[in-house]
Amino acid sequence: MKPAPFTYRRARSLAEAADLLAACPDAKILAGGQSLVPMLNMRLARPETLVDIGSLAALDYVDVVDGHLEVGAAARQAAVAAHPLVRARLPVLAAAIGRIGHSQIRNRGTVCGSIAHHDPSAELPALALALDARILTYGVRGTAVHEAAAFFTGTFDTALAPDEIVTAVQFPLPEPGTGWAFEEVARRSGDFALVGGTALLRAAADGTVERVRIALFGVASTPVRLPAVEELVTGAALREDVLAAAERLTARTLDPTADSHASADYRREVAAHLVRTVLADAFARTPAGSPTDA
Ligand SMILES: Cc1cc2nc3c(=O)[nH]c(=O)nc-3n(C[C@H](O)[C@H](O)[C@H](O)COP(=O)(O)OP(=O)(O)OC[C@H]3O[C@@H](n4cnc5c(N)ncnc54)[C@H](O)[C@@H]3O)c2cc1C
Repeated sequence: MKPAPFTYRRARSLAEAADLLAACPDAKILAGGQSLVPMLNMRLARPETLVDIGSLAALDYVDVVDGHLEVGAAARQAAVAAHPLVRARLPVLAAAIGRIGHSQIRNRGTVCGSIAHHDPSAELPALALALDARILTYGVRGTAVHEAAAFFTGTFDTALAPDEIVTAVQFPLPEPGTGWAFEEVARRSGDFALVGGTALLRAAADGTVERVRIALFGVASTPVRLPAVEELVTGAALREDVLAAAERLTARTLDPTADSHASADYRREVAAHLVRTVLADAFARTPAGSPTDA
């Protein structure tokens, strides 16, 4: 299918992009185009104007700012995953990006575009939630900062106002020694995940868990944290019995969505198993970590 007619505007600066967005109430930002263009072609989106920010060099960066890894809105997923700062300081971000679609998608798609688009089966919103990321925006009304915990409001829905542009995402850098894991189950390599999960975990020298964060995606209209499971695991040595209890608690407390791709029961079972897997794998990446005594 072909898209409905639209006006294409390539912004030459962030200020110009903000002005265009404010002047055309039915405009949409175009970044990598990997979600928006298919939606245009299927006529699921019919904006009158596209404001292209993809070639704004000032937004094409990865940097460390105040203990955060900051990714600008024009930085492509593949470039971010390969960036030395990401590989050294936040390898879980490279792992999450590696699960997105195919290399052609990652070569064009942006990290910020994935956060702004918020597909509930997407990897990066879940990682943003797990890390307590901050979403920085700009518009004619000024700058703003959104916390990830309040940003993802529903399927393809966020707290972003129509005249706000995501300029960067800031991922807090985990303390040294934090173990991480990122896993998902998809029908074929490159497909959107049926269920996915991530964990970040710190352990004391004796192997007890000091701090853990778990987030799942593909199970609800937004990514979800698992506070009860986090509480269960904190203070415990991550032995087989604790991993099994975490798996059971996930299965008991999670109420996943069903759709044409998977039933709620299937998602519940896979999610529970993934929670065990990401906990064990994250622990194995801590200095204390031998994975389990299983
Ligand atoms: C075959 C295929 C497989 C895919 N598989 C996956 C997958 O497994 N996991 C996954 O997460 N994604 C997947 N994607 C989507 C891909 O990752 C997109 O790149 C991403 O969702 C959106 O990023 P983008 O830069 O391409 O945004 P665009 O497509 O340009 O924009 C998407 C939406 O976000 C808005 N937007 C983008 N940037 C900004 C900004 N800076 N400020 C405000 N609004 C903005 C746009 O207005 C639009 O509404 C797949 C896509 C395809 C075509």
